[in-house]
Amino acid sequence: MDYLPLFHNLNNRRVLVIGGGEIALRKVRLVQEAGAIITIVAKDFCSDLLEMDVVDKKQDIGNLELIRAPYQQQHIQAQPDTVLVIAATNDAKLNRQVSEHAQSAYMLSNVVDDPGYSTVIFPSIVDRSPIQIAISSGGDAPVLVRLIRTQLESLFPAGISKLAALAGRFREQVKTKFAKGADRKAFWEEVFNGPIAEQAYNNNIQTAEQLLEDKLENSTEFKTGEVYLIGGGPSDPDLLTFKALRLMQQADIVLYDRLVSKPVLNLVRRDATRIYVGKTAGDHPVTQDNINQKLVDYALEGYRVVRLKGGDPFIFGRGGEELEMLAEHGIPFQVVPGITAASGCASYAGIPLTHRDHAQSVRFIAGHHRSGKLDLNWPELIQPNQTLVFYMGLNGLEAICQQLKHHGLEATTPVALIEKGTSDSQRVFTGDLDTLPDIVRKADAKAPTLIVVGSVVSLHNKLAWFNQDTTDNNE
Ligand code: SAH
Repeated sequence: MDYLPLFHNLNNRRVLVIGGGEIALRKVRLVQEAGAIITIVAKDFCSDLLEMDVVDKKQDIGNLELIRAPYQQQHIQAQPDTVLVIAATNDAKLNRQVSEHAQSAYMLSNVVDDPGYSTVIFPSIVDRSPIQIAISSGGDAPVLVRLIRTQLESLFPAGISKLAALAGRFREQVKTKFAKGADRKAFWEEVFNGPIAEQAYNNNIQTAEQLLEDKLENSTEFKTGEVYLIGGGPSDPDLLTFKALRLMQQADIVLYDRLVSKPVLNLVRRDATRIYVGKTAGDHPVTQDNINQKLVDYALEGYRVVRLKGGDPFIFGRGGEELEMLAEHGIPFQVVPGITAASGCASYAGIPLTHRDHAQSVRFIAGHHRSGKLDLNWPELIQPNQTLVFYMGLNGLEAICQQLKHHGLEATTPVALIEKGTSDSQRVFTGDLDTLPDIVRKADAKAPTLIVVGSVVSLHNKLAWFNQDTTDNNE
């Protein structure tokens, strides 16, 4: 081990920074967040540092002092209670000299970008105070460290700070209640993995506190499960949200639809039971009532149930209906939005849904109805400067194009049909109200497909970027 990571309590302790530029500024911000009393010595100060000085004086914090002078060893000797010296000038020789002076005074020293001359180095930090993660490569690979940090940032929900703070408030109480370490550990593990943690993540701190108090009082607690209604996006698993992934990893049971792609489904916790509740055209293996009931039953048995849907659960997803039933039974739930097909397919087809030169609004329309009849408000749909997006429109494509023409849209209005958008087999067909139905029929396009109508479609030729090597379209 080249370095020993330690967390340094700098609160009200003195730190000396030599240098007044951008690099010094970054370090100053860090040590300031840790509550240090800071003296900065430099010949010149960048404007942000000067402003900081003013702000602090105004707030009467009095923990920042700027000394405009060339550095001299005297600056270190004058403040023997200094615990850390940071050399951040752009003069490497001077920096090393500062470091030597600091070390001879038994102070910790950091030379920016010069670990060889430092006794301590700044790690890369993931800050979810009170949770903190420090990462370092000992100066060998800072870019790699930054990449690791980005990955770690995505692993921890922002709300983990609140959860940790909550745990801190209950620490003593839990200690008193459970004398044995193993019991305490089991208790906290349940707290951090269940509804209490979820409530804290969702900023329902009072509810989380209440649940935690209840849990402390009733060792023999009753267990209600939860339902997570999650949008799985159009197909590409990279389009999932962090939250979706986190909750999918906690599932005991997953109920999923036909539109949920395999790569997305593969990200569900390995041990979870997977139940397919999709509907295939003309054949309804599981009715909506049946699905609603299943969600309620599993949750009441205490399971964490993920209801995974294609796209976004609140856009043509019947998410609302399922939640109403859960609410009636008092079952806790969360909703995680997903990238809806319109957004995903349009992005991956290079068709902006709005564009200042083409469309100022966009409509999402169900292209087929329960009755099987397309009875839409056509006069509204032919208004200028808007983009129309039809979901579930493959079978009705011809009728849609005809009706739009019939009600007054130009036959030359551009139309696109995107098949299996955002997946590796995405295909994009473009034409106009007259030509597209034929093109699509010949290509034998298969569901799921999305139809986009409007002059924004003309941008596809210029902006297509995804799946270009394999796309078998009509151009
Ligand atoms: N809740 C979903 C929509 C469900 S309705 C969402 O927000 O996306 C089902 C319709 O969505 C399909 O008929 C199709 O029109 C569209 N759709 C879903 N995924 C798609 C995909 N990968 N490519 C094209 N269309 C898709």
